[in-house]
Amino acid sequence: MNYTDLQVVIKEVCGQSACSRCKKKYLESDINIVGTTKNEAVFMAHCPCGTNAIVNVSVKRKQANITPHERQWDPINNKITLNEVLDMHNFLTNFDGDLQNVFK
Ligand SMILES: [Zn+2]
Repeated sequence: MNYTDLQVVIKEVCGQSACSRCKKKYLESDINIVGTTKNEAVFMAHCPCGTNAIVNVSVKRKQANITPHERQWDPINNKITLNEVLDMHNFLTNFDGDLQNVFK
């Protein structure tokens, strides 16, 4: 995902996502990019209330070269299961900080 795509996606995340605790919508300055692939992005949203959230966005492209107005994106809003939380805990426990290896 290039810089232009990320800007569009982050604006959409801010417009449609809110803190699960205080319900405040995120500002662009609250969003940090964890990593991206061609059609997905993972963000860490830091709310001023102290709550953090991981936001995963999948982008569906209609064609190879598209303008920002032609993009469609859908946030992944599935409920997180206990096993997914445990998997992430185990992943983070063993994570060495090398993001390049994570997104290979
Ligand atoms: Zn909050």
